[in-house]
Amino acid sequence: MQRTITIVGAGIFGLWQALTLARRGHTVRLVEASQTPFANAASQYAGTLLAPECEFPPAQKDARIFARHGLQLWQKNFTCVRTEGTLVVAAPGGTGDLHDLATQSENRTILARDEIVELEPGLGTRFQSGLYFKQEAHIVTESALHQMLDALSEAGVTISFGSPVASNTPRSSDCITIDCRGMAARDQLKDLRGVRGERMVIRTDDIKLTRPVRLMHLRQPIYVVPWGDGRFMVGATTIESEDTSQVSVKSALDLLAQAYQLHPAFGEAEIISLDSAVRPAFPDNLPRITVRDAGQHIWVNGSYRHGFLLAPVLAEATADFIDSGATHPWLKLETEPCSPAQAL
Ligand SMILES: Cc1cc2nc3c(=O)[nH]c(=O)nc-3n(C[C@H](O)[C@H](O)[C@H](O)COP(=O)(O)OP(=O)(O)OC[C@H]3O[C@@H](n4cnc5c(N)ncnc54)[C@H](O)[C@@H]3O)c2cc1C
Repeated sequence: MQRTITIVGAGIFGLWQALTLARRGHTVRLVEASQTPFANAASQYAGTLLAPECEFPPAQKDARIFARHGLQLWQKNFTCVRTEGTLVVAAPGGTGDLHDLATQSENRTILARDEIVELEPGLGTRFQSGLYFKQEAHIVTESALHQMLDALSEAGVTISFGSPVASNTPRSSDCITIDCRGMAARDQLKDLRGVRGERMVIRTDDIKLTRPVRLMHLRQPIYVVPWGDGRFMVGATTIESEDTSQVSVKSALDLLAQAYQLHPAFGEAEIISLDSAVRPAFPDNLPRITVRDAGQHIWVNGSYRHGFLLAPVLAEATADFIDSGATHPWLKLETEPCSPAQAL
């Protein structure tokens, strides 16, 4: 049955919800508080690694399987996805972590020094061994977000920017509301917390990389994502804090020092930006679809470090619930109704 659906929040979760539901024939309206697309979205600061193998520890094996599906959905739907794999190397002191990753992960190849040189000549001969996750991919955040907006227009989604939805706005009974407000949804999702992330974007023509490279390091592991035109995104800190202030001196020093350790050519790079944002996360660091009011109000949240990777999976799961009542393991049916003051 075709439904009328309002999605609140045009970050990566809201965009994928809107696209998936519109392509299934529902009438979808996406409302966003900020006037300019992504101005207040954590999504604008993502890397953006699509890395199901590197990101999920053995204890989150199910999440890794869902994440692989997320990567496939990106690859199927968007031409901006670059499937060049991920290379992981270690700084002195990070070799133990590299070894742990090798034993805990799947779908990886162990590389010797010569093979690293062959794969990523720009790094030279400085790393003895590494891991290659051939199936992983990355996207350039800004162009991916704008490709998604184009896809939404093509799919017939009505998008309203500069339209903040108050948390007690009454809804008509025949409309489903999906809340994708990220951190702002904490008024409804009591166990949501913020996890601070900092990153930098630098530019240099003195080194070429084809794929994201992760550097295992005792203090601050980093990843460097090639964004083209000499730009590299270096990320990201993961700090248990909801502090939204600018990047700290310590974090900047760590990110810069580790980039320099990966390759001294980064020492001459131009710093384009230093950015910080807060990622919404639940206590288990897994996302959640919370269904209340017999399915009329749905919250999709808790992206933690994996908003881009998992957004298409959650969108499919929400659409399956709306279309057929199917319940994904990450979907939680809550029986108590929202009070009017709570309802979106
Ligand atoms: C430094 C850093 C690096 C990261 N790297 C990666 C990565 O490599 N791969 C990956 O998958 N993830 C990564 N992430 C995580 C990812 O960015 C987040 O998980 C994701 O962006 C969160 O998306 P969201 O849609 O839930 O929230 P947001 O992007 O914050 O979107 C929420 C939207 O809701 C809007 N809103 C709020 N209140 C209202 C209201 N009342 N009415 C209307 N609209 C409202 C906001 O303006 C905002 O646009 C990274 C995050 C950071 C900080």
